[in-house]
Amino acid sequence: MTDKSVVDRRKLLVGIPTVAGAVAFSFPSNAPSAKPLSRRTIQSMTAEGLSSDERTRHERYMAMAFDLAKKGAAPFGAVIVHRESGNVVCKGRNQGDVNPIYHGEIDAIINCGRLKPPIEWEMMTLYTTGECCPMCMSAVVWAGIPEVVYGTSIKSISTFGVDQIEFNSPSVAAAAPFYEGRIIGGILKERTDPLFEAWASRLNRCKHRDEDPGGLYGKCNRAS
Ligand SMILES: [Zn+2]
Repeated sequence: MTDKSVVDRRKLLVGIPTVAGAVAFSFPSNAPSAKPLSRRTIQSMTAEGLSSDERTRHERYMAMAFDLAKKGAAPFGAVIVHRESGNVVCKGRNQGDVNPIYHGEIDAIINCGRLKPPIEWEMMTLYTTGECCPMCMSAVVWAGIPEVVYGTSIKSISTFGVDQIEFNSPSVAAAAPFYEGRIIGGILKERTDPLFEAWASRLNRCKHRDEDPGGLYGKCNRAS
């Protein structure tokens, strides 16, 4: 690997705009895959850039994800919704205490994958209380789900004090030349941010007291 092919992590973390409205996500020019990425765009936007009708619709489904998150081993809940019918097709919640890769989004995608007849992935929107980690966003890309809506960003969860792989979901999407989609952040973050902040506090409290070495998913870390 040459110096030029090294991705600047600071640049990747600015993928989600802080201004209202949709913008095309641009991959760092020194990234190895920058050339093919110019063929299409990943739209990354915040709740503020939406019409009030659209925002209200997204908030309705995020509230369902929020309720699932409260039942998870960590506060990640997800619902997958058919965009035309508005039907909730699948649900998921973090079950990291069972298997560390059972994130809420993975759980929901696995549940959708079991349905017969197979679902129309391209008609789905995935809602998740926390921004998709690189593993979950990769699963979204492979499933071909073209829209993701999240509450709290990876950056915020990290700031609250929980370890994160600091590679945001637009960066993952942009690294897949075959994928086109839209990522909306900050829906109901006034509810999801405190949920993650409280989780982070419990984790840190447990860590300082040297209690419950079960890590992220131990009993000590559950909401009381
Ligand atoms: Zn994940």
